[in-house]
Amino acid sequence: MGDKPISVQRINRIVDSKYKNLFLYLAFLVAFLAVITNGFISSRFGNAVIDLGSTTIPASSISGCIQAVSVMACIFMVLIDYRAGVRLAIFTFLFSIFGITRNMIANNTLSSIPGAVNCLIYILVSIIIGKQLKMADRFALTDSSTGLPNRYGFERELETRLRGSERGYVAYLHIGGFHDLNANLGRKYGNSILMEVSERIAGVVGDHGEVFKIEGAEFALILSEGCKYESLLSQVIDAIEEPIVVDKNGIKVNCFVTATAGVADFFDRRITTDEVMLCTDVAMNYAVNSRDEDCKISTYNDALRAEVAKTNEMEKMITDAIKNDNFYLQYQPQYILDGKRLRGFEALVRMRLNDGSTVSPTIFIPVAERSDLILEIDRYVRKRVMKEFKDICTAKGEGFVVSVNVSAKEISNPAFADEVLEAMEETGFPPECFEIEITEYSFVQSLDNTRQNIKELRDHGIKIAVDDFGTGYTSLSQLLNLPVTLLKIDKSLIDNLEDSEINRDFVKTVIYMGHLMNCEVISEGVEKESQLRLLNQFDCDFIQGFVWSRPLDYEVAVDLCK
Ligand code: C2E
Ligand code: MG
Ligand code: MG
Repeated sequence: MGDKPISVQRINRIVDSKYKNLFLYLAFLVAFLAVITNGFISSRFGNAVIDLGSTTIPASSISGCIQAVSVMACIFMVLIDYRAGVRLAIFTFLFSIFGITRNMIANNTLSSIPGAVNCLIYILVSIIIGKQLKMADRFALTDSSTGLPNRYGFERELETRLRGSERGYVAYLHIGGFHDLNANLGRKYGNSILMEVSERIAGVVGDHGEVFKIEGAEFALILSEGCKYESLLSQVIDAIEEPIVVDKNGIKVNCFVTATAGVADFFDRRITTDEVMLCTDVAMNYAVNSRDEDCKISTYNDALRAEVAKTNEMEKMITDAIKNDNFYLQYQPQYILDGKRLRGFEALVRMRLNDGSTVSPTIFIPVAERSDLILEIDRYVRKRVMKEFKDICTAKGEGFVVSVNVSAKEISNPAFADEVLEAMEETGFPPECFEIEITEYSFVQSLDNTRQNIKELRDHGIKIAVDDFGTGYTSLSQLLNLPVTLLKIDKSLIDNLEDSEINRDFVKTVIYMGHLMNCEVISEGVEKESQLRLLNQFDCDFIQGFVWSRPLDYEVAVDLCK
């Protein structure tokens, strides 16, 4: 939760507790009793010296001590509750002035005047301190860029509502793309974008709830029980995703951010603040990591929690496997269809567990892709391939290819091409024998960076394949602008080749268009001779599939090259 400012940390423990009023009235009782006791001592002893047997003590000293207790109690009241505390402190002060004046008249002396002035000064000081602390608290509870209450303010408000047995919803809103804008345009413009976003959120939420800014690009909402949160959140998301116009040196720039939301309710009276926040976090992370464009709002439920727990466990397994060097590669041969000559291999990563079993990449790659773990895995695969196949590729030359899969996250990273080229220089691997497989999904991510990387890699002779082609994201025309060298037709299209005329026509067209674009075409997941025959008719260049070979261990793959 981070360090809370001292005033929030110490005083709020009482302020936020349900015994706040009890503390307030106890302090008032102490102050009031002290004033009465003081009045009694002054009227009974005046300026006399009290004989305590072995020693004597002036009555005014005892009076001073009791007055200090009363002042301390007044300060405490002001700190606990500024408004009520100030009123009770003034009441206590007026009551003590009344006692002091009465004594002065009765004893016909002005000796109590310094005590009264002291009392007044103490109370004024406590009011000033209270005011300062209140301001410091407000400052500590407010987000400086938007003026909205911040995470501490949010936690405090949620705690108050849970204590009051209120029911409702908490929603977290993640603003996607903000960090890039902030980095590109600068902090000043970043802040004005956040300000605009916060105004749009508050505008839509209105009386349905409260808005908080809890992290760099994250907002929280506390929504009332009766509100239709799904439709409200879709309106909020629509409002946020409208273009934001920023005035940069007189030029109007249209900025775009995205939004995803996670929601959890606090209907259960036993639920704690931490639990509500955790559930909302789980729901939001699910929405943020979902590749499903339609999943912009995710509501917490137990199934979601179980799924997240499974993902976390898998992430830990991957981290352990990286630490313990428990990855290895298999190589699946690719053949030139005409004559079944070896074209090369696709490197496929495997993860070994401590008990000796292996996990399929279809299970761990999607998990690794949600975190940065995929970058380490892919880096490992590239280095290993370059090391294991450098000599074979150098001997076989241009026509022989080893391909590696690269995640969308990597290909859209501006430093990616340089990193590959550096590894290539270090190992001495011939670039013309290296192929990078990217999925169609890469073109949805950051097209500019992807295009730049592809271009740089192609300039150095590295081949670029589009994996799983035909599964949805790209069109052929989109690829026309990219120097792609190979289209890999997805297994799902090959599976139905014999039964579906539409599939046959589609595959035929892809192969034809691919050739027009100067690309070669490979069909993957070919399992039957009948599929081979059809692909031969359609003029497909290469095939990869169980019909001719499954993925092989390194030693077997090397034997195949001889
Ligand atoms: P992919 O790149 O499309 O790889 C082809 C997958 O299809 C491989 O599964 C391969 O074993 C399988 N396959 C090939 N021919 C046939 C066939 O005839 N029948 C059937 N049923 N399957 C066939 P694998 O090895 O399980 O890999 C699955 C996916 O995991 C890969 O799909 C790729 O997306 C990902 N992957 C594998 N290795 C890596 C890696 O090093 N990095 C990254 N980022 N992803 C990887
Ligand atoms: Mg592949
Ligand atoms: Mg594939």
